[in-house]
Amino acid sequence: MRIPAQGIGRDLLFRSLESYRRDDVHWRSGRLLSYIYDAGEEVEEVVKRAYMMYLSENCIDPVAFPSVLRLENELVAMLAAHMSGDHDVVGNFTSGGTESIILAVKAARDWARVHKPEISAPEIIVPVTAHAAFHKAASYLDVKLVPTAIVPGTYKADVASVERAITPNTILLVGSAVSYAHSVIDPIAALGRLAQQHRVLLHIDGCIGGFLLPYFRRLGQALPDFDFSVPGVTSISIDLHKYAFAAKGASVILYRNKEIRKYQVHTCSHWTGYALTSMTMQNSRSAGPLAAAWAVLRYIGDDGYLHIAKQLLEGTKRVIRGIERIPALRLLGQTEMNMVSFTSEQVSLFELIDAMKERGWYLQPQLAFEGSEESIHLSIGPNNCRHLDALLGDLEHCASALQEGPVNKSAVEPTEAAAVLERGRSQKLEAKRKLYVILNEMTPPQRERFLTDLMNDIYCQPSHAEATEAAETAEAAEAAEAAGPQDRIGLTDPLSAG
Ligand SMILES: *Cc1c(COP(=O)(O)O)cnc(C)c1O
Repeated sequence: MRIPAQGIGRDLLFRSLESYRRDDVHWRSGRLLSYIYDAGEEVEEVVKRAYMMYLSENCIDPVAFPSVLRLENELVAMLAAHMSGDHDVVGNFTSGGTESIILAVKAARDWARVHKPEISAPEIIVPVTAHAAFHKAASYLDVKLVPTAIVPGTYKADVASVERAITPNTILLVGSAVSYAHSVIDPIAALGRLAQQHRVLLHIDGCIGGFLLPYFRRLGQALPDFDFSVPGVTSISIDLHKYAFAAKGASVILYRNKEIRKYQVHTCSHWTGYALTSMTMQNSRSAGPLAAAWAVLRYIGDDGYLHIAKQLLEGTKRVIRGIERIPALRLLGQTEMNMVSFTSEQVSLFELIDAMKERGWYLQPQLAFEGSEESIHLSIGPNNCRHLDALLGDLEHCASALQEGPVNKSAVEPTEAAAVLERGRSQKLEAKRKLYVILNEMTPPQRERFLTDLMNDIYCQPSHAEATEAAETAEAAEAAEAAGPQDRIGLTDPLSAG
């Protein structure tokens, strides 16, 4: 595929973009229960307007763009207060939870190089329920990740298991508030005591929970402390592109003080260009996500978020009651937020997901791993709340239909899973419908090898059909241009113009 010989007019260009997305999930339907955090059109409008105002401004240089620095400092201050931090708390705006987490691990690694110089092979202790981003951080930064167990049935980190895992090489402990898969808060106070006893850092992953948990507590939910009010907590990540309803590309990493945050910073003047100090991983980046995040917090405001949290709490309770009434389904643990996951001993969850898809629902599968059953995850957002009765009705219908069908819990033999591993690309893609069934039967290393190959294959040059479609658009544009002027780019010569 090539850059089109002539630029394409705007009409055709945007029509072709529209047509490209015809097969994407229709998230505005309210029937998607993950990936998109949507607080409705009014909020979306404000987010888009602020984003567009700052689309072209560059976060790279706070001297050239002082307003960008001001927005970031104000945003971080609002979140520091939200996390019970005092005036010493500092932080930065990042592109997402993963970047916030990678930075927290990097800060811990470089902090240990100075404060525990005897350590040559640093270790971070990470409960098996913690987000995959910690594994990514460990892999990118060459730090050893030591996994620890959960307390059976609660899906919360087992503090005794964390304590046993601590060695002289430990630099960082991790707790989630809440964990993504089960939506529960780890015993943060106990982890804080361990961290202080052993002089190590403690990161709280509040990526998905950090923002709304204070509101759930104000609504009367009995929730344990998880923020800077807990002694020993040294950093917290909070995503704004989840339950703060900012545009994607918005998270904040907070540190208890500058003494720790300084190990996050990277400065370089060992090259021939401008001197560069990076607070975060990216270099040039649009200030759009920052302005949008700042704007959405100030637009919705504390009372607005409390109101949203109340709606979500009521919705979640309804979903819990509904699922409890469906005999084939079993909830995993006790959610402490607005996400629930459930499993089944009686029907194949992956078939259930397919049956629900036929009815327009998009549910997220979670694989069995280390004390957690395979499950279906539901993130209940404001745009789902009007559809919960329909959701529960369809779940009940599909689960009982599957229950009456042939007993077919896994729908694929382990040997079939192994065989798929050895097949080529086309068969792997063919197997996509059954992908999760097959993955669930594999061991974690098999899953990783399989998915690496699959993704390495699907990010490739377009298929013949796709390339032809794109070429036809370009030809149509040329033909249209020949028939009369189109709204395509003007090619005036800048030197001769006006
Ligand atoms: C979403 C999430 C992350 C990772 O965040 P991204 O923004 O997707 O990079 C980390 N931890 C938890 C608990 C999350 O839910």
